[in-house]
Amino acid sequence: MNRIKYVLPDLDYDYGALEPHIIGPIMELHHGKHHAAYVKNANEAAVRLEEATVTEDYTPLAGLERSLAFNLSGHILHSIFWKNLEPKGGGQPDGDLGRAIERDFGSFEHFRGRMVAVASGIMGSGWAALTWEPLSERLLITQIYDHQSNLNQAGVPLMVIDAWEHAYYLQYQNQKAAFFKAVWQLWNWKDIAARYMSARRLDLALTSGH
Ligand code: FE
Repeated sequence: MNRIKYVLPDLDYDYGALEPHIIGPIMELHHGKHHAAYVKNANEAAVRLEEATVTEDYTPLAGLERSLAFNLSGHILHSIFWKNLEPKGGGQPDGDLGRAIERDFGSFEHFRGRMVAVASGIMGSGWAALTWEPLSERLLITQIYDHQSNLNQAGVPLMVIDAWEHAYYLQYQNQKAAFFKAVWQLWNWKDIAARYMSARRLDLALTSGH
């Protein structure tokens, strides 16, 4: 049987490289402890699910499914978030992604305003995500609860803002809106545009209509 093994990715930059917008101690804890725990727990849930299949003991199934959804989604979203950021990032995207943002949100400023508002409006822990919605072939902004709730089934996350307290509290305390604005100095638009072009190739084979 396939032994699933998720791996914590290395960052493309040092922990302190995103300062002053995100301080090194936040990055060290966030990547080295929080993200690492999601990877560990996703692996544990995946292995125990494989065991349940073999032993046909389905008693723990519901809890394991929930654990896998939570921890695997946490692993994926954090992996995207790290790639989305870079030292000396920011600015605005041009090319296909820039045009798609203007088409689907009116302007870059409207897009930015809505992303910050969606992140700020999360009740509890969650994420703001720019996603590709393949059925109507457009960009959507999605408010994600925890790591895995409130998403449409085929939405592909392209660009995400971590709105959990662990993402900002050491530096920004209760001023979370300041953090959600600061990340706009760090966006790696080349990474986001590459993920957008890749997501657009997704075909759900539902072409008979939207
Ligand atoms: Fe996080």
